[in-house]
Amino acid sequence: MQHRLVWFRDDLRVRDNAAVSAALNCDPAVQITAIFLTADDEWESFGYGANRLYYTEQLLKSLALELAELGLQLQVVHLPDYAHQVQWISNYCERELVTDLYFNQEYQWNERMRDYKITTELTHVNVHSFVDRVVLQPSTVLTGDNRYYSVFSPFKKRWLSVYRESSRAPYQLPGSKRPKTTPLSWTSLADSPESDLTAFATNERQALNDLDVFTESKLTRYDAARNQPAIQGTSRLSAALARGLLSPRQCIKAAEDVMNRPIWDFPEDAFSWINELIWRDFYQHLLVGFPRLSKNKAFRPETETLQWRNNTAEIDAWKNGLTGIPIVDAGMRELKATGWMHNRVRMIVAQFLTKNLLCDWRIGEAHFMRYLVDSDLGANNGGWQWSASTGTDAAPYFRVFNPVSQGETYDSEGAYICHYIPELADLPKAKRHSPWLASVPGGYVEPIVDLKSSRQRAIDAFKDLKA
Ligand SMILES: Cc1cc2nc3c(=O)[nH]c(=O)nc-3n(C[C@H](O)[C@H](O)[C@H](O)COP(=O)(O)OP(=O)(O)OC[C@H]3O[C@@H](n4cnc5c(N)ncnc54)[C@H](O)[C@@H]3O)c2cc1C
Repeated sequence: MQHRLVWFRDDLRVRDNAAVSAALNCDPAVQITAIFLTADDEWESFGYGANRLYYTEQLLKSLALELAELGLQLQVVHLPDYAHQVQWISNYCERELVTDLYFNQEYQWNERMRDYKITTELTHVNVHSFVDRVVLQPSTVLTGDNRYYSVFSPFKKRWLSVYRESSRAPYQLPGSKRPKTTPLSWTSLADSPESDLTAFATNERQALNDLDVFTESKLTRYDAARNQPAIQGTSRLSAALARGLLSPRQCIKAAEDVMNRPIWDFPEDAFSWINELIWRDFYQHLLVGFPRLSKNKAFRPETETLQWRNNTAEIDAWKNGLTGIPIVDAGMRELKATGWMHNRVRMIVAQFLTKNLLCDWRIGEAHFMRYLVDSDLGANNGGWQWSASTGTDAAPYFRVFNPVSQGETYDSEGAYICHYIPELADLPKAKRHSPWLASVPGGYVEPIVDLKSSRQRAIDAFKDLKA
């Protein structure tokens, strides 16, 4: 008799889920068990914060309800690390006579090594692993000489041509004839978040609804609105995508349905959103092609010798939104308050830390990992190394963002900064991004660094690196 074990990870949904679809496609007499295993100590060493864990806990609760409707009970088991996960799976399969194991692939180094061990050690179990986290399997988008791309534009071109040839049908959720059941209880992953996470969907229906609202009302204006942090011009679906409450396939399908055409025929403004989903795939593929990215190493090895300043007082001011540069402070306050930050502002605060303050990008990456509800090694590492000019296809080191002109360009009225720094609302709009030129009622912190000389200091530090 078959016994199928479905192992959930960052894919906390039942719809359009490759592993779930395959596992549930069977006679109702087949025994199916669903599990989620934590790796508490290992995740702590990765810097996962309470926001991510609390959000995961919310999604597990709604997943348990979805599965109960299908007649399955989700077991959540606390374990210290991936080595114990391998052991637990192996013991469980032996004890419970599991015949088939189903899971979706993950691409970070430790996770890949864990899955490799499982696949090679479970000799008496059929192990079925699926591509689900990304649209296209990493090994299918390679250069002419079978290497991983390290530059986005040619990657995108190749990605699009592979995508055109690939099957795009969503994975079906087989109807279940099992009697409904009730969810089990478990020890929670985190009792409370550090930020107010109420803006993020916590169940599949809500996330699909958010996706529909975005594609129907904002997709065609995305290109024009995506850089303005004061408005909701982007989808804000990153947390759902990072934790697998939504799949990137569902996102593309929703966009194609609204546009009534395949993505390669999209006009530029709507394609611009698809472009971001391709960036998302790109960063996952890079994790596979360049394992050092999962090991705290720079993509460009020569940047490892850079003399970062790492001034503790300045880092604290940056983390707490007290640098005296309004757009940086607003972004850092948004992160702490909401567990999320607008992409344009992520780039600005990351450049400010790594260039103006000349601090190691790993400090910023860890701080984001602690607070972001959408934290994801691929995208976070990619974003930080891009901003720090240590990464693949990164911002050239001599093109340092000026946070004041960035703020004036993308938040011209100062509406975004005033939301997080209300004391600046009394200033004339033209002075909101440079309050040191005006007198702020009640005062505002003086800039902790001179933007012009610190920019030059960063350029000089990078210039001296041996290629
Ligand atoms: C320093 C830095 C750190 C970042 N850390 C993360 C992170 O930990 N997790 C994360 O999901 N994104 C990260 N990003 C990328 C980006 O900022 C967020 O994905 C985006 O702000 C999410 O908002 P949205 O859902 O409205 O995106 P939209 O603009 O609506 O884009 C749709 C989806 O595409 C993906 N996406 C968008 N931009 C990027 C990008 N540049 N790289 C990779 N995927 C992208 C996301 O899944 C996003 O939900 C980071 C960017 C920077 C500069």
